[in-house]
Amino acid sequence: MRNIERASLLCRKCGEEATHELTYAGNLLAHTTCCNCGHASHRDVSKRYARDLERRVRAKPRRMLRSFRRHPLAYSLTVVRGLTTKPVDIWHEINLATHGKSKRSARQQCRSESRRSDTAL
Ligand SMILES: [Zn+2]
Repeated sequence: MRNIERASLLCRKCGEEATHELTYAGNLLAHTTCCNCGHASHRDVSKRYARDLERRVRAKPRRMLRSFRRHPLAYSLTVVRGLTTKPVDIWHEINLATHGKSKRSARQQCRSESRRSDTAL
């Protein structure tokens, strides 16, 4: 799962305050997309991403142990799910940090997110 957040920001292309999709590669802001005009901006975070990933991998055993001590059963279930999803998550993060994503895919994601929020209301 990619870390995607939304925020209302002023777009430098269309000049309107609009919802922007902020996509994080790990803890780093890698990509922003204006949901109004589709203007996409990618930041090259590839070098910083490697350090961020290394820091997260080093801290992982400690975080896993802490989670296990708090909720052993719930944690065990998340480990099973994580074994299947985490490699894919890391693959998406690496692609995002190194290549960004296309303007077309960013627009499609903004639209699909908008549709989901419309139906939820
Ligand atoms: Zn815009």
